[in-house]
Amino acid sequence: MLTDTRIEPYLPQIMDWRQQIHSNPELGFDVHETAAFVVAKLQEFGVDEVVEGIGGTGVVGVIEGQSNSSELCIGLRADMDALPIHEQTGLAYASKTQGKMHACGHDGHTAMLLGAAKALCESRRFNGKAVVIFQPAEEMGGGGRAMVQDGLMERFDIQKVFGMHNMPNMPVGEFGLCPGPIMASADVFDVTVQGKGGHAAMPHQCVDTTVAAAHIVTALQSIAARNVDPLKSAVISVTSLHTDGESYNVLPQSVAIRGTVRTLSNDIQDLVEDAVHRVINNTASAYGAEAQINYKRDYPVTCNHVEETHIAGNVATDVAGEDKVQRSMLPLMGAEDFSFMLNARPGAFIFVGNGESAALHHPQYNFNDDVLAVGCSYWLRLVDSMLPLN
Ligand SMILES: [Zn+2]
Ligand SMILES: [Zn+2]
Repeated sequence: MLTDTRIEPYLPQIMDWRQQIHSNPELGFDVHETAAFVVAKLQEFGVDEVVEGIGGTGVVGVIEGQSNSSELCIGLRADMDALPIHEQTGLAYASKTQGKMHACGHDGHTAMLLGAAKALCESRRFNGKAVVIFQPAEEMGGGGRAMVQDGLMERFDIQKVFGMHNMPNMPVGEFGLCPGPIMASADVFDVTVQGKGGHAAMPHQCVDTTVAAAHIVTALQSIAARNVDPLKSAVISVTSLHTDGESYNVLPQSVAIRGTVRTLSNDIQDLVEDAVHRVINNTASAYGAEAQINYKRDYPVTCNHVEETHIAGNVATDVAGEDKVQRSMLPLMGAEDFSFMLNARPGAFIFVGNGESAALHHPQYNFNDDVLAVGCSYWLRLVDSMLPLN
């Protein structure tokens, strides 16, 4: 791996920013201090235009190249939010806030994009505009959606957009991506099964919601196993199951079920949504109960565009070497709200190896500072490649 010489002098500083952000995690749209930190840095670098408050607390910086004979403008995106997890890393720069933690590496993503912005401001050796996008609420709330709905693409005339995420246990200095779906859609559902409560010793006088709910949980698994083409992907996970009963001798009046659905294509997402309704309603009905279903589509499939994925793969190869880039990695069933940006403009999402580490969202996870050089080099070479001087 060759670290781009333009980023080398700033690496100690970038590491310092990463660790500062790590110590001060914020959640969802409530990333005011992180956004203020980003704004202050962008202004200090001499970014041509800094705009705050896009999609709530999103920040955008516009960097103009030394030539503007090209009208092309590309967006580079990082996420700024942390997770409601109690950190257990024991690091000197661990979270200062109980119950909040940068356990997905968004501290590293933000620091890498800041590093790239600094180097781009120094050199300006490109033709057109590079727009750096710092979004809130990737983990929950859809900050990417909020920024797109707030006119991100039109307002800054962004024509192509690129994102990057670290991946634990992929070696440092390696990349992975694929054309087409790279991450899943994420839908959520809440179900209330209503029956007739009563004495647990006289079930024939009641409608037992617990038995109905248990069958619903089991029957939902038949959708992925029996309705979805075995060569396509779907996950249906029930993540919460609560009866409103507390005792040994009372059959509860209602049961609440909650869960998530993941798919890699719109047609399977439609099929599973229909099947979830059918299976829940009919299973409840088979036991004499009734179900109320609230099904919500949250994040769409993150779908890489073919041409931009090819370019991103070439850039990664240029940084890391031919044998260090998996150009047709298998997609992940996790979700990403960069999907909203890729639905608005062509682009590509790439994974960068975080080396041996705890999994994302684990209390012992930490972003690997050795990745900073790799990620910053990728951003700089991507700008070289997308916005070349003649
Ligand atoms: Zn995450
Ligand atoms: Zn993440």
